[in-house]
Amino acid sequence: MNRFKYHIFAVLTMFAALASAQDQQEKKEREPGHYNQSRFKQLYEEFATPNNYRSASGAPGPDYYQQQADYVMDIELDDKNAKIFGEETITYTNNSPDNLEYLWVQLDQNVRAKTSKSPLRDGGGVPMAEQAGAFVQKYITEPFDGGFVIDYVKDASGKALPYTINQTMMRVDIPQPLKSKEQISFSIKWSYNIPDHTVNRARSGYEYFAKDGNRAYVIAQFFPRMAVYSDVEGWQNHQFWGSGEFALPFGNYEVNITVPADHVLDATGTLQNRKDVFSKEMMSRYERAKKSYDRPVIIVSQEEAEAAEKNFSTKKKTWKFKAENVRDYGFATSRKFIWDMQAVKVGNRDVMAVSLYPKEGNPLWEEYSTKAVAHTLKSYSSHTFDYPYPKAISVHAKNQGMEYPMICWNYGRPNEDGTYSDRVKYGMISVIIHEVGHNFFPMIVNSDERQWGWMDEGLDTFMQYMAEQEFGEIYPEAIAPNSKYPSRRGEPSKIVPYMAGDQSTIAPIMSNPENVYQLGPNAYGKPATALNILRETVMGRELFDHAFKTYSQRWKFKHPTPEDFFRTMEDASAVDLDWYWRAWFYTTDYVDIGVKGIKKYYVSNKPSKKMQEYMAARDISEDDLPPLVYLAEEGSEDADPDLKGKSPSESSQSLKEFMMDNMTESERASVKEPKYFYEVTYDKPGGVPMPLIVEYTYADGTTKNITYPPEIWRKSDKEVSVVISSQTELTGVVVDPKMETADIDVTNNTWPANEGPSDFDKMKENIKGK
Ligand SMILES: [Zn+2]
Repeated sequence: MNRFKYHIFAVLTMFAALASAQDQQEKKEREPGHYNQSRFKQLYEEFATPNNYRSASGAPGPDYYQQQADYVMDIELDDKNAKIFGEETITYTNNSPDNLEYLWVQLDQNVRAKTSKSPLRDGGGVPMAEQAGAFVQKYITEPFDGGFVIDYVKDASGKALPYTINQTMMRVDIPQPLKSKEQISFSIKWSYNIPDHTVNRARSGYEYFAKDGNRAYVIAQFFPRMAVYSDVEGWQNHQFWGSGEFALPFGNYEVNITVPADHVLDATGTLQNRKDVFSKEMMSRYERAKKSYDRPVIIVSQEEAEAAEKNFSTKKKTWKFKAENVRDYGFATSRKFIWDMQAVKVGNRDVMAVSLYPKEGNPLWEEYSTKAVAHTLKSYSSHTFDYPYPKAISVHAKNQGMEYPMICWNYGRPNEDGTYSDRVKYGMISVIIHEVGHNFFPMIVNSDERQWGWMDEGLDTFMQYMAEQEFGEIYPEAIAPNSKYPSRRGEPSKIVPYMAGDQSTIAPIMSNPENVYQLGPNAYGKPATALNILRETVMGRELFDHAFKTYSQRWKFKHPTPEDFFRTMEDASAVDLDWYWRAWFYTTDYVDIGVKGIKKYYVSNKPSKKMQEYMAARDISEDDLPPLVYLAEEGSEDADPDLKGKSPSESSQSLKEFMMDNMTESERASVKEPKYFYEVTYDKPGGVPMPLIVEYTYADGTTKNITYPPEIWRKSDKEVSVVISSQTELTGVVVDPKMETADIDVTNNTWPANEGPSDFDKMKENIKGK
């Protein structure tokens, strides 16, 4: 060990001792029981243990399985009485390793049964206001009788199967357990009264148009549907109360729908008997639409729809569809519908973008609906996988925003004279992007909506934000000049009022949708913003996009859990995000980071008073130490006025010697020694650790941006100090200058503080005076 090395060793030991003394001090200052590294602790306690079904990487494991439910259905609509009838045969394949003693079938319409407990579970007292329709149903008329009537449940040989209905769930008791890898077929005959969906926020039903006496139907969760059986929940048979949406297995569908002969109808799947239900004129228009990639072709015009409104045909027509690998089924039908469609290239396939709307949707709908559908398919495909279905339909339905495979209902209605506000226009384009986007999450990346609202709503709202911004770039004529598309959610600043709000009305994102206080910000806005910040600020687009695409592709046509998403995002990027998931998804903490204070230093030739005391206490002399460089705080007792304005190598003999010994003459000549040194202290009143994004401004007008990683908060959750050096004086510090972290209080984000001259300003004035 040579002398120089000995000194380094000694001084490192000494500094380690110093650091440890500081740690001791910090520990004393901490509140009892508070361990401040917990924000960076891995999520082993929160996450389910990986296994053969779901790997630690976030991918499906070697034993991953999912059940399959195939349906053959005959449906008939009684338009006069607003009733629907169905007979269905379900073929259920048990791919699980378990033997199933019974089967659970979902009866969602029972949420509208007279005996439903749903209206009785909210104890909020008198509301501020009540919708007129809801008021009538609650206080004036008999409760709507909208539950399922089950005529029979039969096995394949026609023998009745016993069943038990518990609210919205029906247990079908089978004679012997359904063994692993075996299949069972059984049939159900059912009917129910269709609700007016404009009352009590039904997701499905009809709207009645008093002026012409017609109804427009948007029909979904209309048939008894198999519940999901999985490695995570067993049977997912949590009741449908109204907020938590659906959990459904994939399957193939053959559906025949009989409606009045003058109705126009579209549905999930490929139409099998187009020639039976289309006129010759419609057929030739359809052939043109299949080759029209730049604009929609009208299949049924407004004029034709208005003529049909007066018909009220008593004849019937049956529309036959087949759909492969879908988790659900929906359809829309009315004689009021105008119909347009165009082709969209997705990868090397053609997909049809389709719109159905009554004349009440025009002129808005013929202008924007199909355009928005086509844009959504392209935008979402580019961030995930190529849209695999043959079509995507947007149906106009008052106050609706609801999604099913290949078909969705959307709001956005002009005034009666055809005028409309920007709010209505953007609301309509946005809801179409959102609902068509749901084809990706959860219709294809098939998460459990009943358990986790954010997994589809949050991811979809994030994708919606990107698609909206791209829409504004591709169709600048559709938005205000020189502006961005006015997205309602996604920008960090938009979530601040929620995250800064009353903590007693905020739940973590990782909550069941039935139990949260404000479902919109909880399951849509906050997760969407969290992902947007992850993409733009924490991970960067390249790492994020690859990881997000990996998640989408790993779990398309499968059932992912939150852990599968969280794990994949790390697995594909090498970014430890446990701290991020913990803060944003498992807590209700908010972001608030500020600049607390600044001290100015210069290089000094002698140890500070504190250092001298430290050395004296340990009987260390300067000769025992390797060459050390000291920084003295300006204006403190360590300050040496003679050294002011000198370069560091002039001020410090040790530094000068080191540079002489270790650098060539030309190296020494080419360096630019800094003249100013600052210790900048940042504090963090908010619980969420975030990257510390800082813009430093100097007296010569230049700026320097430094992003300190979030790990800067790993040892001290409340306050950190950094050292910076520069050629010219520091004149300003701004934390999060582009407002990208959803910081809830920006009054502490600037130095000097905005309200008046800081201590440092006053000190600067003093120095200038000297
Ligand atoms: Zn949604």
